[in-house]
Amino acid sequence: MNLVAENHNDHIESIVRAVLKPVGSPGIYAQTGLFEQVIEGLTVFISRRREPGTEVWKFPPVMSRDQIQNSGYLQSFPHLLGCVSCLDGGESDIRAAVERPDWIGGLEATELVLSPAACYPIYPLVAARGDIPTKGLLFDAASYCFRREATYEIDRLQAFRMREYVYIGMPEPVLNFRTRWISRAAEMATQLGLPHRIAPASDPFFGRAGRIASISQLEQSLKFELLVPLQSETEPTACMSFNYHRDHFGTAWALRTAAGETAHTACVAFGMERLALALFATHGVELKNWPAAVRKSLLL
Ligand code: ATP
Ligand code: ZN
Ligand code: MG
Repeated sequence: MNLVAENHNDHIESIVRAVLKPVGSPGIYAQTGLFEQVIEGLTVFISRRREPGTEVWKFPPVMSRDQIQNSGYLQSFPHLLGCVSCLDGGESDIRAAVERPDWIGGLEATELVLSPAACYPIYPLVAARGDIPTKGLLFDAASYCFRREATYEIDRLQAFRMREYVYIGMPEPVLNFRTRWISRAAEMATQLGLPHRIAPASDPFFGRAGRIASISQLEQSLKFELLVPLQSETEPTACMSFNYHRDHFGTAWALRTAAGETAHTACVAFGMERLALALFATHGVELKNWPAAVRKSLLL
């Protein structure tokens, strides 16, 4: 019997139709006022849990190509990266280019890429400041992100908003940061009335060598995700992730602790659209029918 599954998919489809409108490209949607209201509620909900002493940064949806390269992204996820290309030159060059049917052949790569995650610009910012204080550093980062995914289901977008808390410091407090955010995140999902579980995870590293990197990431418990059944019960959707990078960014950016050791880093990431979709899928598209406690938590 897959009646239940079909009904579930119909339910999700009708929810998506009510809050997201396709605008001509897969994985790209216009978002309704109602959807945005929920995103705003979630933004405040997450901000309220910010730890004392956290520095807040908002980043544009583009970042330095050199920085993303130095971060190792090109080796790990070249298939997901989007670069900004423009028509360069004087008026006559540009005029000639746009009049050719194959004008895209005239595009030149710029020094910019589309940000694939919110935390990447933090590490070079911190590197420019000198040593990391003994107690470590906490950051709150937000950015619109882009990923050229292999497929676009309703919860897998090309462009989406990511919010992150980041800690930079000694290995033990870095791990403690991640541990307390895993339990805090589970409490947050409960407060939002979302069915969820936390599970070990790995990143979709590129190619054959990438599969080995994914296995090693799992073996070392470097990544966990908070999963919510959105499209399917058997393949729930990652709405948050908890990542321990060890000394990856510390080495890439020569981040040193006051004791002279390479700093370790961790981040907790919230997928804003996925969380909003999970709320709509769970509670419906009529805010007035949502549990009172959930509405209160989100100021709705
Ligand atoms: P997935 O396993 O579903 O591809 P991911 O491991 O690539 O997710 P992260 O790199 O950990 O995700 O990104 C942090 C969060 O950003 C995810 O937990 C998710 O909520 C959100 N996110 C990631 N990719 C997308 C996407 N293509 N569309 C919408 N949200 C996304
Ligand atoms: Zn991150
Ligand atoms: Mg992914």
